[in-house]
Amino acid sequence: MTNTNFQNAINKYLKSHGYEKVNLKAVLFDMDGVLFDSMKNHAVAWHEAMKHYGMSLSKEEAYMHEGRTGAATINIVSTRERHYEATAEEIEEIYETKSKIFNNLPTAEPMPGAFELLNQVKTSGLTPVLVTGSGQKSLLERLNHHFPNIFQEHLMVTAYDVKFGKPNPEPYLMALQKAGIKANEAIVVENAPLGVQAGVAANIFTLAVNTGPLPNEALLNEGANFLCSSMKELSDNWNDFYQCTFL
Ligand code: CA
Repeated sequence: MTNTNFQNAINKYLKSHGYEKVNLKAVLFDMDGVLFDSMKNHAVAWHEAMKHYGMSLSKEEAYMHEGRTGAATINIVSTRERHYEATAEEIEEIYETKSKIFNNLPTAEPMPGAFELLNQVKTSGLTPVLVTGSGQKSLLERLNHHFPNIFQEHLMVTAYDVKFGKPNPEPYLMALQKAGIKANEAIVVENAPLGVQAGVAANIFTLAVNTGPLPNEALLNEGANFLCSSMKELSDNWNDFYQCTFL
């Protein structure tokens, strides 16, 4: 990875959006698969929960739904497998079952490099903002435990804030609104195809980190502006990237 690559990616973004510069003020972080190495557990939990209700959702498919709200995932699978949409009560029950299975799995560790990156972002004078489709009740506690003094609760966007969720740009647009900034004043850090789609649709420079089993193309084809192979790689190169936003 070189500065030239970063610079090219930024220039391409500016040109296609008609912006003069990136005036970076905030970094919008997805959570699962970015800050926590939790996607394996989510895939297992979705697979097991759906099986419990007689529906089939493979672990591989779970990665393709990553980023959607639980309700949206449940409805897609229900419509396909049972030919009808789940009721609100069913959605709540199935999501609770999924959460129970998830919570019984070994706790997912923070993604290597994530805390280092968050600290660098903060030290750069930028605001880290969490944008997740997750509705885990223990979310805030876990974030504060692993990443103390990083996130501000009033800036977070979670499953409770949004109507549509990713891949709709809504969560990222809401994050811009909460932070009081424009699209060219933020970047998105995402690991999932639908998350990248949401960031790109919100007109924000979207940096993909491929921390899962999908091929790079799955992220690049959704319009990711840059791709890193890990959070550690992004953290190691953060300073170079940040410097490029000034050029
Ligand atoms: Ca994710």
